[in-house]
Amino acid sequence: MSEIKLGIIGGGQLGSMLASAAKKLNIKTTIYCDDQDAPAQKFCDEFIYGEYNNRDKIYEFAGKIDIITYEFENIPFETLNELNKLKTVSPKPSINRLIQHRLAEKDFINRLNIRTTRYAHIRNKEDLLPLNDFLPGILKTTTMGYDGKGQHPIKNLNEINSLNINFKNDYILEKLVKLKKEISVIITRFNNNKYEVYEPIENTHEDQILRHSKIPAEINQKLFDQSREWAIIIAEELKYIGTLCVEFFIDRNDNLYVNEIAPRVHNSGHLTINAYNVSQFENHIRAVCSLEQTPLKKICNAEMVNLIGKQIIPYRESPKINDNQFLFDYLKKEIKEKRKMGHLTTLK
Ligand code: ADP
Ligand code: MG
Repeated sequence: MSEIKLGIIGGGQLGSMLASAAKKLNIKTTIYCDDQDAPAQKFCDEFIYGEYNNRDKIYEFAGKIDIITYEFENIPFETLNELNKLKTVSPKPSINRLIQHRLAEKDFINRLNIRTTRYAHIRNKEDLLPLNDFLPGILKTTTMGYDGKGQHPIKNLNEINSLNINFKNDYILEKLVKLKKEISVIITRFNNNKYEVYEPIENTHEDQILRHSKIPAEINQKLFDQSREWAIIIAEELKYIGTLCVEFFIDRNDNLYVNEIAPRVHNSGHLTINAYNVSQFENHIRAVCSLEQTPLKKICNAEMVNLIGKQIIPYRESPKINDNQFLFDYLKKEIKEKRKMGHLTTLK
């Protein structure tokens, strides 16, 4: 292929960072998004606005590009599958379908003999009643959740009657893990047994939204090795092409659990832009476009803090940062509570 034209579905900050990484590699990008104000349009070569089920627009998009990838998982399977008949979609639509459903995802992980928290499928209030030993727990919608959206903590059976939940959706009840820490492992897989793994990242959440990430994670060698090993097993089993993230829980007895898999680049990996020779975004582009694999080298330790809602304002007014700091403003028009507006990475 002389000049690769890459299509990216989704136009948020992950789309912006993917488009910037592609530009560095001389790859032209077209972004498709259902938000007219999508911030990533400022970073790509061409932008198409359309709903994710608009056939005509989707075909127009497919006509402009050679390869398709995506920045978020909640894209209708039918759309990805339709697109895959026209141009290669990476990661495969079947992977996305599996992982966008919390129940299918957890069943898959358990089949690999990898530990998750205990969970049950919930279709109505009655399904909850025999599940006392899954409490305290969190009831989550099986699909479409992100940044803690669609989640309801339940402490005990008494609380169930007062729950105001729409059982038109399907749910999963997860037993609450007594968390010591959360970590994530980002891996880019190129082909059979060809991958680059970033070292585990330690993450802190506030209100179920990622607030802070750092490397190195303060964990023992066993957890370091096991998290990395499980991420490799998952990527190999999926025959994944591109970057994926595995989110883990560590409980107070240092047991490791997989929380969830993100079939995409991930917020906790933003620090890889400045802390590694090749970022998670560049590696994703390299893998999906079948470019050469460059051995991964860590340059230094780093911390990243998300700027959520109004936290971006002081940085916009006077961006006072040090030489070892990198400010990313996602250029979102509207500041909303709980909306990720930017991030600041500090190299250590
Ligand atoms: P999302 O898709 O919104 O990222 P997650 O399932 O990752 O959803 O939940 C967001 C955060 O909520 C987790 O990172 C963790 O801090 C907390 N959380 C979710 N499920 C559990 C659980 N079973 N036990 C303990 N904490 C949990
Ligand atoms: Mg999560």
